[in-house]
Amino acid sequence: MKKLGKLMAAMLVIALTAGCLTACGSSSKSIVFGTNAEFPPFEFVSANGVIGEYDGIDMAIAKEIAEKNGMTAEISNMEFDSLLVALQNGQVDAVIAGMTVTDERAESVDFSTSYYVATQVIIVKEDSDIASADDLSDKLVAVVQGYTGETAVNELGLNYESFKKGTECVLELVNGKCDAVVIDSATATKYVSDNAGLKIVEDEAVFGSEEYAIAVKKGNTELLNKINKAIEEMLANGTIAELGDKYSTAE
Ligand code: GLN
Repeated sequence: MKKLGKLMAAMLVIALTAGCLTACGSSSKSIVFGTNAEFPPFEFVSANGVIGEYDGIDMAIAKEIAEKNGMTAEISNMEFDSLLVALQNGQVDAVIAGMTVTDERAESVDFSTSYYVATQVIIVKEDSDIASADDLSDKLVAVVQGYTGETAVNELGLNYESFKKGTECVLELVNGKCDAVVIDSATATKYVSDNAGLKIVEDEAVFGSEEYAIAVKKGNTELLNKINKAIEEMLANGTIAELGDKYSTAE
């Protein structure tokens, strides 16, 4: 009887260990990052991406976070507006999407240490006389739906139209269907270098600074700690600054 009990206990231990090796092992081998690959230089689709077809500053950061933890990074590409819902549903483990930390978003998700400082800027045609956010009061502005740029123009009481993608906003401007685009600074720089005849107008007094961070499901401190540790290392050793330089000058 006693022997049998011991044997059963030993078998139970083996069964539990095996269970954990398969279940715990497979669930911790990859981190699924949700993104919206429409936001150069942070995330975009390219022939030679760092994670499959996905390239950009955020994609390189995601890859390194996973590798520093002995895991691989997987990307789930979706609309920006769907990202936080996907996180709450458990469809993705984390969101990396040039996402600005806001009080509203922080109510539904937890944010990592921030890794980049940005601001909203105004893109106009080169010959435009718009020189500040004030000058937008009687104009039509294009913004991306769900971006902090949309919140900003809404709070300023401006006349605006929302589009799904930054490239659509820029096309509206190029085609003369709107007067300006309000969007994040690094992305604006990329669009202006890709499209002739456009320029950037800054208005620091109106558009404050924004901090990008990675979001995880509320209470997922295990993953958040892994992400924070990796980000802090990459900030300290200059990796993130190097990525910023590399992707801002890249084609
Ligand atoms: N930083 C902006 C925001 O959080 C835009 C992000 C993005 O387009 N990926 O709303």
